[in-house]
Amino acid sequence: MKNILLIHTGGTISMQVNAETGAVVPSDSNPLLVEADKLNSLAHIIELEIFNLPSPHITPFEMFRIKELIDQYIDKGEIDGVVITHGTDTLEETAYFLDLTIGPAIPIVLTGAMRSANEIGSDGLYNLVSAIQVASSDDAVGKGVLVVLNDEIHTAVNVTKTHASNVSTFQSPQYGPIGFISKSIVYFHHTPNHQPVFPIQQINKKVALFKVYAGMEADLLEAAINVGYDGIVLEGLGQGNVPPSLVPAIQDLLAKDIPIVLVSRCFNGIAQDVYGYMGGGKGLKDLGVIFAQGLNGQKARLALLIALNHPDPKQALLSIFTR
Ligand code: ASP
Repeated sequence: MKNILLIHTGGTISMQVNAETGAVVPSDSNPLLVEADKLNSLAHIIELEIFNLPSPHITPFEMFRIKELIDQYIDKGEIDGVVITHGTDTLEETAYFLDLTIGPAIPIVLTGAMRSANEIGSDGLYNLVSAIQVASSDDAVGKGVLVVLNDEIHTAVNVTKTHASNVSTFQSPQYGPIGFISKSIVYFHHTPNHQPVFPIQQINKKVALFKVYAGMEADLLEAAINVGYDGIVLEGLGQGNVPPSLVPAIQDLLAKDIPIVLVSRCFNGIAQDVYGYMGGGKGLKDLGVIFAQGLNGQKARLALLIALNHPDPKQALLSIFTR
């Protein structure tokens, strides 16, 4: 039997509906903690509750604490895999943070639920069992951080929450899942590309994410300089364009050595230097804007934050964004 470190962080998977108010709320005691017998029949479980937070309360500091905890257990050589329960709202961000900062030596699997523990059709325990099955699979080794819900296995880099309430919310647009779970079978039909790892020692710095829209003005971008942001991610239009009104502020930011990363706000496809008009991708690239290939805005933000926390940020930026 494999030794699996099970880390609870909170989220709907650890919540219950309050009978009086009807609101889904964190429980005084995590309902998953009473399921030890079922889980221990799948693997030898080392269970920890690092925090009990709804995932909108999770910040890069909590992500860094999870990373440090996993590093400690990996260094001790006592575990074969890790499963993390997490709220689904920011699950993809924690998954990608860990993917960029911990090597792929053992499987690390995140899971969550769309329905809380006492709701009809609750998917929490089912997803947790699936995640333990995947983390215990020899085939999961070397595949990077994985996200398992609703019988599907997704990579941290590609997965995103696509639906506010449906249990099949986690999808990997353009790429699809890399495997599935069917009863006791864990089957991988694709192997992801190798990704660079940045084992950072600290997490600070401020990186802002702006969604670009028709008629956007430059004032908020300019304000980011004054309130001390160290980096900016723009979710640009189409193949990677912005309104002309933003160009002078982009030039100002770059002149102050504040890196700007551009992704596309489109669900599919990647930002590229295609258009030569004012605000088009070609001109942005010439100015020194970094094009993030295929990442969504929230993941590009974490990638930039991690690069800025690396001892050699310029090298880290190159290696993260030219994958
Ligand atoms: N709002 C919840 C959270 O992210 C949603 C969930 O867990 O499914 O904590």
